Amino acid sequence: MFTQDLPRVQNWINGQFVELAVSSPSSGTTQYLPVTSPYNAKSIGHVPLSSAADVADAVAAAKKAFPAWSGRTIKDRAGILTRFHALMTKHADLLSDMVVLEHGKTKSEAMVSVSRGQDLVEYAMSLPHVSQTKILEVSRGITCYDSRVPLGVVVSIVPFNFPVMVPLWTLSVAIVMGNTMVLKPSEKVPYTMTKVVELLKEAGLPDGVVNLVNGTAEAANALIDHPDVKAVTFAGTSHVAEIIAQRCHRLNKRVLALGGAKNHTVSAPDCDIEMTSTDLVESFSGCSGESCMAPSVLLTIGCQQDLIDKIVSKSEAIRPGSLDGQMGPVIDQAALDNITRYINEAEVSGARILVDGRRWTKERQEGYWVGPTVILHTNKQDALLHEELFGPVLSILEVETAEEAIAFENANPYGNGAGIYTSSGATADFFIKRFNAGMCGINVGSPVPQEPFSFGGWNKSRYGNHCDITGDGGVEFFSMRKKVTTKWVPQGNASWMS
Ligand code: NAD
Repeated sequence: MFTQDLPRVQNWINGQFVELAVSSPSSGTTQYLPVTSPYNAKSIGHVPLSSAADVADAVAAAKKAFPAWSGRTIKDRAGILTRFHALMTKHADLLSDMVVLEHGKTKSEAMVSVSRGQDLVEYAMSLPHVSQTKILEVSRGITCYDSRVPLGVVVSIVPFNFPVMVPLWTLSVAIVMGNTMVLKPSEKVPYTMTKVVELLKEAGLPDGVVNLVNGTAEAANALIDHPDVKAVTFAGTSHVAEIIAQRCHRLNKRVLALGGAKNHTVSAPDCDIEMTSTDLVESFSGCSGESCMAPSVLLTIGCQQDLIDKIVSKSEAIRPGSLDGQMGPVIDQAALDNITRYINEAEVSGARILVDGRRWTKERQEGYWVGPTVILHTNKQDALLHEELFGPVLSILEVETAEEAIAFENANPYGNGAGIYTSSGATADFFIKRFNAGMCGINVGSPVPQEPFSFGGWNKSRYGNHCDITGDGGVEFFSMRKKVTTKWVPQGNASWMS
């Protein structure tokens, strides 16, 4: 559907696409970066590198829109998202084609990611009903209630791996709660959100309520530092999440910065081999492993050769491509080099490469291809067992006992997801009580909570002073509580302490 070289991306400020504010950015470097399709490594267009001047324009537009937007009823605001949801359905094919093109997902993965984005919109549509607050007569004639007040201009800095879904984690709840937003898409996948903001406008969203500023760290930092920005959410690598959280803390700004992940799954000897192998292969290779909830380490309790054999045969059956059941490329050359380096290092340290995705790199002439890779480790110190890779690689390690599996998982510095495969409720309970992760699964490959349950990890997978980014976590993050104490009936000599 797309020809190569789309029009270059523009920022979206005050309801229209605009060129960069100044002709040369403050960094003095190039103003546009090429955007490439991971399928063939060819340029599809260019993304602008915004400076503090562009950020100032976007924040000013969001600030100007805030009084009227926050003054509307929550039902009114949610009603616009209802129309937006219908437009997403109408344009789901186009949105998912854009995700395929710029991100490299398969068509069915892209469709699911758009549909998951719609689930987030649906939750925000329900907020008039579910975000109600408390009211209580606390003593005779005295009633307390609290109400939720929006923060003002909020910022969302998002990663490359889900170009529609992750921006909708924050955007949907933030605006229904009455905030206005400046969002910085990933410079690797800037096109899809340009369609999303057009659909928001078509749904009736007033100009300035949602703005897009494209670019890299310079734009992100200018957004964080801007005095009119009240709160910042981020999702990306732990290294950057930590830097952003610290920067916000210094400025006393509300921040939730989600980081990377290393998710461990345990297979007990009584697990269902067919289900476990199917789930794990789909989950570690799905979206080419570029999911913060992908299971990347399998700990088998004892030798489970039958399970490993099934994992190997199902992984080997996957073919490269963009169709159903196939697997797409990874995002760019840097990611491909990184994944290859980790596999090479594991091999050198004595691990057995049971399925070798590096053959795809050799076979495919163009694009960033590495196939599903299954590695059997014997050295517990191998980096692949501990560090985030963000690629289609499953590392398997045999442990002797449930206690050893838990100790291994608990020692991991991240804490996004963890899972157990078993046929025993008691075994499942043992692990769920002990996993050191925010999102846990029983017989589920990738335990992503669905609305109304909130999304968020622990430890190095989350920085900042709030817990979860979606669901009621998002409502809490994107609002302040105003507590009101009232007395309408005169009580003679009674005071509020009566
Ligand atoms: P990234 O950290 O490289 O970039 C994320 C965003 O931050 C981008 O918009 C980027 O332009 C910006 N950025 C990069 N460097 C910056 C800096 N020094 N200062 C300010 N902003 C900066 O992450 P990525 O490669 O786009 O995404 C992959 C990572 O995201 C993985 O680690 C994955 O686990 C993580 N992720 C986590 C979650 C979660 O919920 N925990 C969700 C999605 C992705």
